[in-house]
Amino acid sequence: MLTDYQLLRIPGPTPIPPSVERAMMKPMIGHRGNETSQMIQTIKPKLKKVFGTAQDVMMITGSGTSGLEAAIVNVVHPGDKVLVVATGVFGNRFTKICEAYQINVEEFAVEYGKALDPEAIRAHVQANPDIKAVFSTYCETSTGVLNPVGELAQAVHAVSEALVIIDGVSCMGGVETKMDEWGLDVVVTGSQKAFMLPAGLNFIAASERAWKVIEANPQKGFYLNLTKYRDNIAKDTTPFTPALSLLFGLEQVLENFEKEGLENVYARHQLMRDMTRAAFKALDLPLFTSDQDGSPTVTSVKPTDFDAEAFRKEIKSSFNLSVAGGQAEMKGQIFRVGHMGYCAPTDVLQYLGAMEIALIKVGKNIKLGAGVAAAQQVYLEGAK
Ligand SMILES: *Cc1c(COP(=O)(O)O)cnc(C)c1O
Repeated sequence: MLTDYQLLRIPGPTPIPPSVERAMMKPMIGHRGNETSQMIQTIKPKLKKVFGTAQDVMMITGSGTSGLEAAIVNVVHPGDKVLVVATGVFGNRFTKICEAYQINVEEFAVEYGKALDPEAIRAHVQANPDIKAVFSTYCETSTGVLNPVGELAQAVHAVSEALVIIDGVSCMGGVETKMDEWGLDVVVTGSQKAFMLPAGLNFIAASERAWKVIEANPQKGFYLNLTKYRDNIAKDTTPFTPALSLLFGLEQVLENFEKEGLENVYARHQLMRDMTRAAFKALDLPLFTSDQDGSPTVTSVKPTDFDAEAFRKEIKSSFNLSVAGGQAEMKGQIFRVGHMGYCAPTDVLQYLGAMEIALIKVGKNIKLGAGVAAAQQVYLEGAK
């Protein structure tokens, strides 16, 4: 096999654009000097656009989970009652973090592969007025569902004072987010998914309503205390040494977003989803999510007539093409292809072509080219 060649199509980490790789190779600078504060000044307004907020977006060094933990420790106290709407493994992660802090957590479990229903949550929250916060996942990476988090926030705010806290790690930067307009109170995302950076940074913003709760919270921890990040970013700095190489990369990513146009970035992700879904349907591969719920960043398939793991092994060994398997109860049952970040419609045609060959090899009866043709058709219609 061609050496040093790989096709990384898992839902994060994702490939890194050459311009971003080059930016990250810049020599180190002092984190308290002008160069760093100028870089943060450039980054700030652009990150706000990705979040759809007028609030400053704080940057924490740590993988996505540290952002989820920050949201929890700042907003709720031990003993508080919260609701976690879990549509899969990542929703469940909120539950686990809450449990680690002795928070009284109730999990509203949604069937795997389905999106949450805002009306059901509204009824639940209305019946439980002591719920202080509602947590959910924007894109549930473990199933490939994009949850209607704006509708969720509206439903919750209509009947309750509870804050709405959203994990946007696996879609923000690939899917539009309107934090302020939708009424989201805390939004978290990470660097290694649609932001096309290595893991190690997360971004977090809080609404005015959330800031009131955070300020009144006497137990915010130390490293993840968000008021430190807020007070520092207001002065174009960070409370602790930032991951400067990642910030060099972030500055470049945000410039690339601006060059492409964020609306075009989002349209590209929708097109890649539609191409992928059309191809899988043409190949008679059962999609794990409905057309309405399917995320623009990751697509899951639940095969019935071949082994998902044998298929993954085949595309990895023949093409060095990596897709993800199932997690938790979905282990061995599904495979998930990531189409986000540094991924173009031509990459979709490429992975589909390789997958068709592997499908034949694992014994699935398909017509070669049928999936690629369906995707090409979607492209032609979308590009009209
Ligand atoms: C990847 C991911 C995370 C973050 O996981 P880390 O390994 O801590 O970066 C969190 N939530 C979702 C939905 C994710 O997809």
